[in-house]
Amino acid sequence: MPLYDYKCDGCGVRFEKEHPMSAPVVKVCPECGAEKVRKLLTTGGVQVSGSARSAAPSAPPPCASGGCAGGMCGLG
Ligand SMILES: [Zn+2]
Repeated sequence: MPLYDYKCDGCGVRFEKEHPMSAPVVKVCPECGAEKVRKLLTTGGVQVSGSARSAAPSAPPPCASGGCAGGMCGLG
């Protein structure tokens, strides 16, 4: 679900709201209740990238744990 940035011109508060694209945009400020909220142009949160790539720690090679007994892995 995309994350949208909003800013209220009434009180100046800035907040983020997560809702589907099909949902209507936020118009009323949750802080002051004024209908002066406008959606900010942002790309943050729309695309999730990089989190899955570096999250998993890489397993040590067999040589590091003594599993390679004859240089079969090419590192010995
Ligand atoms: Zn406000």
